[in-house]
Amino acid sequence: MEEKSRNFIEIEIDKDLENGVYDSVMTRFPPEPNGYLHIGHAKSILLNYGLAKEYNGKFNLRFDDTNPTKEKTEFVDSIKEDVAWLGADWEDRLYFASDYFDRMYDAAVTLIKKGKAYVSELSADQIKQYRGTLTEPGKNDPDRDRPVEENLKLFEDMKNGRFKDGERTLRAKVDMASPNMNMRDPVIYRVAHLTHHNTGDKWCIYPMYDFAHPLEDAFEGISHSICTLEFEDHRPIYNWFVENVGFEKPPRQIEFAKLYLNNVVTGKRYIKKLVEDGIVDGWDDPRLVSIAGLRRRGYTPESIQKFVELCGVSKANSTVEMDMLEYCIREDLKHKDKRVMAVLDPVKLIIDNYPEGQTELLDAVNNPENEALGSRQIEFGRELYIEREDFMEEPPKKYFRLFPGNEVRLMHAYFVKCVGCDKDENGNITAVHCTYDPETKQGTGFEGRKVKGTIHWVKADTAFKCTARLYENIVDEEKGVYNENGEINVNPGSLKEMKDCYVEPWLKDAKVYDSFQFVRNGFFCVDSRDSAPGAPVFNRVVSLKSSFKLPVG
Ligand code: ATP
Ligand code: MG
Repeated sequence: MEEKSRNFIEIEIDKDLENGVYDSVMTRFPPEPNGYLHIGHAKSILLNYGLAKEYNGKFNLRFDDTNPTKEKTEFVDSIKEDVAWLGADWEDRLYFASDYFDRMYDAAVTLIKKGKAYVSELSADQIKQYRGTLTEPGKNDPDRDRPVEENLKLFEDMKNGRFKDGERTLRAKVDMASPNMNMRDPVIYRVAHLTHHNTGDKWCIYPMYDFAHPLEDAFEGISHSICTLEFEDHRPIYNWFVENVGFEKPPRQIEFAKLYLNNVVTGKRYIKKLVEDGIVDGWDDPRLVSIAGLRRRGYTPESIQKFVELCGVSKANSTVEMDMLEYCIREDLKHKDKRVMAVLDPVKLIIDNYPEGQTELLDAVNNPENEALGSRQIEFGRELYIEREDFMEEPPKKYFRLFPGNEVRLMHAYFVKCVGCDKDENGNITAVHCTYDPETKQGTGFEGRKVKGTIHWVKADTAFKCTARLYENIVDEEKGVYNENGEINVNPGSLKEMKDCYVEPWLKDAKVYDSFQFVRNGFFCVDSRDSAPGAPVFNRVVSLKSSFKLPVG
């Protein structure tokens, strides 16, 4: 097998192990439970999980639930479901940052005792003013040199609810003149009388992210704390906290570039807005690239794993096309799914010379590329449904399907020759007529005879009638993702419901998440929300054609 080149994170980990910085590898995925996960998170999950596996290490799922205002149990549950579905197994290593609140408090006390933290009386606005700018140093907090004993007492008072929200903060004593703004005595605890989804009313002070996150990593014994690029400027403060609190083998932060998809809404905030405005029917709407949406649409974990692999790991921001994700699901389903006949926009086809009342069973291979999927029998008869677009009274050049006088192959069945059509008073075509040649049954007896078109069909009286949904990007691609007000340019035609589809009768019993290739129409998956037993609704996962080409090399 070809040796894969190592990404920059693997190279760093190799070095750390060689130099004995760490004995083993432990990674984590640390979501904040304030929304559903999306395709970008999948990258982070699979990267962290993949590294742990590759190095025979451990992978933790940790909820970074230090901010009580936005966090909900609903999100904890959905995130667990999504991470498990993606195949990232945390085993028994499920953690909540809020379970560390006592230890974080103790760590803050340690800093105070070392003279490295102090209680401040500045308001949020004042702290901002004192902070300086990128070009000017900040000013010291008047309380910066408060004696240790006093700080200890005041911090305890903060914990015990002696102060109102915002009246006091605990700040790290780092460097008000640092060129890195994150080092200018960041706030590490704030007073906030809020009920937390896990700890209830036990705390009225909450740790800030820059303080909490490195501690969470260190408490768990994480070796490599992998995060996205925007935290690069926070690395010095990350290191300052783990060093000054005093950990023996502190974790190491490594940043990588976020995954962005062109013309696709990924930001949690924006997805939330689409949900709240009722533009989509929930966080799992099949038009969203939330993990739940992709799952409902019919994406498989394997297709997402493949996609993340193709994207690679990089230090430079870049954008990939949705085409690539679609390519991955097509490649996956191509072999897994049965190819069946489904007519989305039906018109009747009547075979004039086929005996009335007669039916016969024809053999159909389920997937020519995967023998293991076997074969099935399909009922054939005098009246069928075909796609409306497969007949034209006056065809343009290069139209090879049904038109008066033309012969086509009915998939898995006979050659038929079009003889005309019926119309209603408005000129709409109500039925197409043809004759069949009994000698041409299923690929026999037509040596030397050529037809250029093959069309699919279902037997009219036994086909199962159902709804299929076709999707387009929720974003109006012509206008771009956001308008001048920072709102999403919504494509009004992103959902098309086809309510008179006819599919092979046995598909009536298709189960939620089952997927099929509907010949010529694409891959379809049974909707997990709007289907009932015996009444599946089919979502189009992806069409069959693609412009995406796998890059060579
Ligand atoms: P926010 O912090 O604004 O709520 P977030 O998307 O960063 O949104 P988190 O729950 O903090 O949400 O993310 C969990 C992890 O997923 C973080 O380590 C984050 O860096 C990573 N992550 C988020 N978005 C992407 C992305 N587009 N590509 C790769 N990793 C991502
Ligand atoms: Mg975040």
